[in-house]
Amino acid sequence: MSTLKYLVMAILFVASTTFYAGANESATEPAKEHGAEGAAAEHSATPSEPAQDKNSKKGKRGGKKASAAALREVEQLDTEDTIKRIIGDGRDSAPKKKSARKKKAVHAAEHSPVSAHGGGAVDAEEAVRRLMEGNRRYVAGKNSAIHRTAQRRAEVAKGQHPYAIIVGCSDSRVPPEILFDEGLGDLFVIRSAGNVIDDIAIGSMEYAVEHLGVQLIMVLGHERCGAVDATLKGGEVSGKLNSVVEAIRPAVEKAKAKGQVSHSCDLLCSSVKGNARMVAEKIKKSSPLITDSIESGMLRVVGAYYELESGVVTLTYKPVL
Ligand SMILES: [Zn+2]
Repeated sequence: MSTLKYLVMAILFVASTTFYAGANESATEPAKEHGAEGAAAEHSATPSEPAQDKNSKKGKRGGKKASAAALREVEQLDTEDTIKRIIGDGRDSAPKKKSARKKKAVHAAEHSPVSAHGGGAVDAEEAVRRLMEGNRRYVAGKNSAIHRTAQRRAEVAKGQHPYAIIVGCSDSRVPPEILFDEGLGDLFVIRSAGNVIDDIAIGSMEYAVEHLGVQLIMVLGHERCGAVDATLKGGEVSGKLNSVVEAIRPAVEKAKAKGQVSHSCDLLCSSVKGNARMVAEKIKKSSPLITDSIESGMLRVVGAYYELESGVVTLTYKPVL
């Protein structure tokens, strides 16, 4: 009887470590990971771990081809210091003045029974941390997929509380939920060729900010963006594609005037980054609701850049305040 018991335990142990390998190295109770509580524990516990400990663990256990250099790079980027440096600028000098409108939105998020990560509105700093941690898992080939289950589908069917707005390119190689290792109900995504925005996109952002309590907007450009490249090369474009090119053109002209600024970032790369910055600045001034939310410290806008081959996302711009 006891032999059978140990055999069953051994089989369960091997099965669980194999199945969950990479999902969450710090988890001690893998069986909880598919539940909302497990998800909340993962997201709340991980940031408090010393960054260097996590890095060394991943370095030892990596073993896969998943671009060790790229992984090191993203691990360096999402350290506490970097996030605070990028997100924290101006925070102390601009104390939060929560408007009644924002208080209402945050209250709604905090008291929802189906918050995306187990409860509470997520501030911009925490949102950036989650995104970068998710991207690190993706780069390492250790996707958790915890929010892509039938249970998660049932949870979010009752209501959504995404923690970040991603304004990204329609390019099929840059799907935010995948490259940030997120799932159902996590990200409020707006996509267009060249991640440009119009009134409909701005209205969508307003909805997420006011009614869903989202406090971070990330404008995500990407390596070798076809829309930016077409704008850079000039020439004729047909139909409504011209609207896309015209929206990108000011950023390209600015990048051209500046010229290539580094060996690692050519003119196309700097145009993509410039375009993301331009869109971020446009968002800031796009509507009274968004401007008010930014000025009251309840909303941040950041720019980021995705590398197609490494899978690494880097924060490239300070928040637009
Ligand atoms: Zn693109």
